[in-house]
Amino acid sequence: MKNFDDLKKKCLGCQKCELSKTRTNVVFEDGNRQAKIMLIGEAPGANEDETGLPFVGRAGKLLTKILTEHGIDREKDIYICNTVKCRPPENRVPTDFEKQQCREYLDSQIEYVNPRIIILCGMTAVKSMLDTKLSISKIRGKFFDGPNFSKMIPIFHPSYLLRNHSTEEGSPRFLTNQDIEKIKNELVSL
Ligand code: SF4
Repeated sequence: MKNFDDLKKKCLGCQKCELSKTRTNVVFEDGNRQAKIMLIGEAPGANEDETGLPFVGRAGKLLTKILTEHGIDREKDIYICNTVKCRPPENRVPTDFEKQQCREYLDSQIEYVNPRIIILCGMTAVKSMLDTKLSISKIRGKFFDGPNFSKMIPIFHPSYLLRNHSTEEGSPRFLTNQDIEKIKNELVSL
């Protein structure tokens, strides 16, 4: 692939898996291609499919709010994408085949952005990038070696946080705040 825009163009016309038949828009990216932080989510939902942008529904708004509360600008400081670029019907989890077919886009995005920190947002992103059988509650907030000397860190998906409103100590929301603060501190030290 010659450059980032060629990759995007190829992805926008992709028909490598069945999700191409039911999507409205391919959801390729949002944010800053030069950012030091990259966030990988699962797959587009209804709002994302409609707009062509990742993390714009209720979960995305919560993610943006949490990042902002920690002084991380969603447009400036982060590059955002998903494991698969087209919406699975009924928001089901993408199949292994769909993830495999879409992987070339994700790998190229990582190569082009070359982030220092990769946030793995939810279990689908974790399973795509880490060889682990552990649950996300066991590995969230921990740094793992990533591609090209980057560091990868799993966090809870914001859709999970939407179902768990508590901010009490030990709650998913509380732990996510800790994780984002840890990411911010790591970024300062890079
Ligand atoms: S999900 Fe990925 S592989 Fe499947 S059609 Fe969309 S862009 Fe292509």
